[in-house]
Order: sequence, then structure tokens, then C-alpha cells
Amino acid sequence: MSKSQKKILIVEDDKSMQKVLSQKLSIEGYEVSVANNGQEGFDLAVDIKPDLILLDIIMPVVDGMTALDMLHNNSVTTTIPVIMLTNLDSKETVIEAQKRGAHDFLIKSNWKINDIIQRIDALLH
Ligand SMILES: [Mg+2]
Repeated sequence: MSKSQKKILIVEDDKSMQKVLSQKLSIEGYEVSVANNGQEGFDLAVDIKPDLILLDIIMPVVDGMTALDMLHNNSVTTTIPVIMLTNLDSKETVIEAQKRGAHDFLIKSNWKINDIIQRIDALLH
């Protein structure tokens, strides 16, 4: 399956991070959608059923950990892999997210964009 058939949903309230990620993933050939908070992200995920969700943790309205629970408790979205995005370099947060079903975890301050793409490619292919 080519990348163009794979949909990635970015749930992130930081506009510059949204832009960097969506541009890079679009160039890589993925079909990218963006939501600004956990509620929007959940609603959009149910609607479009993406192949992968990149989920920020600290967001307004509904935060990422709550959204992760909502996604896993919904029959439409429960099997969609989720990569958590966060600024918190906290082992406890990583453990908690994994306990709640997150597939992977990316610390934004440690990011190199090509590492992110590699991990996404590895998960989707
Ligand atoms: Mg945030």
C-alpha cells in the first residue's frame, strides 16, 4: 500500500508544531488531517478513521490523556495506533500513556523530524 493511501491525524494545539508535522508528512505522501484539541481530534478520528494518530498531551478543552481513553473506549477508533507527543520528559507520563494503550512516545524537545518520519513509516508499513 502506498503512503498516499495512509491517513494520519495530528492532534496538537501548537500551530507551529502542527505546521511542521503536517508539511513534512504531506511531502512524505501521507494524507494529513489536523485537530486543535482532544475533543476535535476524537470527533475527527471517529469520522475519518485515520491509520495513525499523533496526539499531543497538554491541550485545551480535552487533553491528550483523556482523548487517548476516549479513543480506546470507542469501537470505531480503539484499534488505531496512537503516538503521544509531549514536551514533558517524564518517565511517569510515558508509563501512564503506555498503560493506557499508546503505541509510542515522542518527546518534542528531542525531536529530529526524520526520526519521527522513520518511526511513523515503521509503524505503518
Ligand atoms: Mg500542547
